[in-house]
Amino acid sequence: MEEDQTNIVVFPFMAQGHIIPFLALALHLESKLRRLPNLTITFLNTPLNIAKLHSSLPPSTALRLVELPFRPSDHGLPPDADNTNALPYPLVARLLHASTSLRGPFRDLLLGLVAGGRKPLCVIADIFFGWTATVCRELGIFHAVFSGASGFGLACYYSLWVNLPHWKKPDAVEFSLPDFQEGSPVHVSQLPLTILEADGTDEWSVFQASNLSAWADSNGILFNTVAEFDGVGLSYFRRKLGVEVWPVGPVLLSEKNRRSTTPSRPDGASPEQCTAWLDTKPPKSVLYVSFGSMNTLTAPHMMELATALESSGRDFLWVVRPPVGHDINAEFDAGAWLPEGFERRTAGRGLLVERWAPQAEILAHGAVAAFLTHCGWNSVLEALSNGVPLLGWPMAAEQFFNASLLEGGGVGACLEVARGRSGEVRAEALREKIETAMGETERGREMRRRAREARDMIQSALRDDAAARGSSVRALDEFIDAAMSAMAESR
Ligand code: UDP
Repeated sequence: MEEDQTNIVVFPFMAQGHIIPFLALALHLESKLRRLPNLTITFLNTPLNIAKLHSSLPPSTALRLVELPFRPSDHGLPPDADNTNALPYPLVARLLHASTSLRGPFRDLLLGLVAGGRKPLCVIADIFFGWTATVCRELGIFHAVFSGASGFGLACYYSLWVNLPHWKKPDAVEFSLPDFQEGSPVHVSQLPLTILEADGTDEWSVFQASNLSAWADSNGILFNTVAEFDGVGLSYFRRKLGVEVWPVGPVLLSEKNRRSTTPSRPDGASPEQCTAWLDTKPPKSVLYVSFGSMNTLTAPHMMELATALESSGRDFLWVVRPPVGHDINAEFDAGAWLPEGFERRTAGRGLLVERWAPQAEILAHGAVAAFLTHCGWNSVLEALSNGVPLLGWPMAAEQFFNASLLEGGGVGACLEVARGRSGEVRAEALREKIETAMGETERGREMRRRAREARDMIQSALRDDAAARGSSVRALDEFIDAAMSAMAESR
């Protein structure tokens, strides 16, 4: 039986920002691994998340949705809260701890597959599910962690957690990561809130201590990134953990699949409305402004940005959300948060899109010159795939480190314009940086050149034809070969 079928198990943490990259990976594997006999991809999650996916998933022959038993209320969580989207921030750590209760059902599921002659070729699990590596090692199943974050971003994040709390020295405003010198220096303003507040005994520290130490049981890490510009972070994991690292990106959802996986997303502008507006603009003239699926600006920062956009004289397309402290998915009147008369004065050269825009299509449009972004890794890959340079305003998680990678030698196609939600941001400084990036300045020209270079690197990494096979294509093959060798040895 085993020779006639191939089963890959994928298992994201219960958060939209994790489920979506895993779904992109599952669909990518389905399209790239057709040569494997009777490929099935078992997509594991908790009942509510699986139910949502059932109602929205694109047709797929290989994907099987399987639920593991989990009741949020057993863990002191609201009854319908087995996704971070339904949780207030302080309860996210509780969901992380609660997720370790999936260990028993996960192990039973694998044992059932093995007993039924359907031993998985591999398990690919979330960065928050280190314990799955330990279970797989015990059962002799090949295991990989999948990171939707950049190699560099994850390396900084990992190094900060495993070296806690070395940076908490008096006056440690800027410091080096002890085991990641290439990543240093880090400024205290780049620390994500969870790390800033970590003291080794809080819920996040306790969770990460056991989670990250279990990574050593994994066979390696799959990254949604490109070796050519993210090599430093990838080398860190090879050296630090002694595991394989497979950069297989960019793995991105198509606009169609993306819409089907975000059914509750309030409708913003249609792709047609945005492209029709962009069609009226000259090539490489528009600044696209958006901060991902979860982030939004503070009310004062919104005012400063609006003033900067107005005084820049540039065309812009801005995805506007209610500011921090308000439900970002709720109906709202954008004008209430913008300078008096802003929409009238910028009519024609500015398009405000409320809450959600068809980003993949916008970034692929020839009228877009630059992207003001929170440096979420999917947004970065979407921009660089189209050769669009970036203005960085990182806000959370590893976005701060992505901004460093993008601005520095690794990519060189970004100018950081602001950082986080708490600092002071001035419209005039923003306007100057917009001009530096979009105007005929030396820096602007260099950023555009580097963005085109990154696009070319991405295209060659994905090349898969008789003449050449790119690094991401080879990395996926190497991953599958390693899993197959492990399977053959275990027989
Ligand atoms: N996105 C979109 N329209 C929006 C905002 C976001 O299509 O108005 C998509 C974007 O294209 C990207 C994802 O949502 O694929 C955001 O992922 P990213 O890693 O950039 O940031 P996150 O939302 O996880 O912080």
